Amino acid sequence: MALIEIEGVTKTYPPARRGGQPVTAVDDVSLTVEKGEIVGVVGYSGAGKSTLVRLVNALEPATSGTIRVDGVEVTSLSERRLQKVRLGIGMIFQQFNLFHSRTVYGNVAYPLTVAGVPRAEQHRRIEELLSFVGLSEKAHQYSEQLSGGQKQRVAIARALATDPAILLADEATSALDPETTADVVALLRRVNEELGVTILVITHEMEVVKSIADRVVVMEQGRVVEAGSAFDVFARPSHPATQRFVRTLVDDVPDARAVAHLRARHTGRLVTLSFRDDAVSQSQVFAELVRQGVEFELIFGGIEDVQGRAFGHLTLELRGDDEAVEAALREVRELVPVTDVPEPPADADEREAV
Ligand code: ADP
Repeated sequence: MALIEIEGVTKTYPPARRGGQPVTAVDDVSLTVEKGEIVGVVGYSGAGKSTLVRLVNALEPATSGTIRVDGVEVTSLSERRLQKVRLGIGMIFQQFNLFHSRTVYGNVAYPLTVAGVPRAEQHRRIEELLSFVGLSEKAHQYSEQLSGGQKQRVAIARALATDPAILLADEATSALDPETTADVVALLRRVNEELGVTILVITHEMEVVKSIADRVVVMEQGRVVEAGSAFDVFARPSHPATQRFVRTLVDDVPDARAVAHLRARHTGRLVTLSFRDDAVSQSQVFAELVRQGVEFELIFGGIEDVQGRAFGHLTLELRGDDEAVEAALREVRELVPVTDVPEPPADADEREAV
């Protein structure tokens, strides 16, 4: 069942000053998030991600298009009805947005007090939430005394206090170091798996999307430029923006400079094999090379795992007589895509040396 349905949504801000241009922050975006999914929305700064989140949370009205949250069209609701919809949506942010003057306990209590939950029930719920995020011991500390990762855990507990069906995470790990990021990502996964919360993760960090998202949506200049299962988007990025993002993570095809270095040491034929499908294993390919009497060495590349499926590129040096190599490649091409590594420009190594 679709929990969030965004259809042809545009958000245009009026010009900041007289005579200026209006800014279309979100441009004709359609996107559906199914119940129980974790969807990653990636894009560079200014792509329109945060605006999209504010529209889903009905903090701002869309200029056109429709947004339905759990079947309720939020674009036309009264403020009073909107507040009810917002109770079903938790939010966490890059800067945590905790109340500094309150303790951990007090931060988590806040939304419960606003929702009119009686004290005794609040207490039970807060204990449960703090235990879930692993901060029971910190209940009476002030947020200032916590590390970044702990602050985000408190923010997650607070966002979950009213039992929302949806959690919107806006750059929630962008202020954290890689290790803490991994901890928070693991917690978000538990929120999804154990509590059944549907999560929309907004980020510019591919590592985060790779480790958590079922589905990925790539935004550029307000538009969705690519969308698909996490595996497909990582293994076969089609839009240049997506390819740039994937490259930040999967740097497994040698660039001109790397080729120049490789060439200095490897004089055989250099080819890059693309593994994008579980149906073909590396060993099948290597067995084929051996069968054709071609010697090979792995000289560059890497295999990534997304959603438990492997993909990546491996660059090999092949040695043997030309005919044998050609015959072997004919067989290998039946199994996986093969590209010849382009020869480096003659001066590549000199440029490198400068
Ligand atoms: P992202 O979250 O991907 O960095 P944003 O949604 O923050 O992108 O911004 C998208 C575009 O909309 C940017 O060009 C930004 O300057 C503009 N924008 C965002 N919020 C406002 C606003 N309240 N008023 C005017 N322009 C805005």
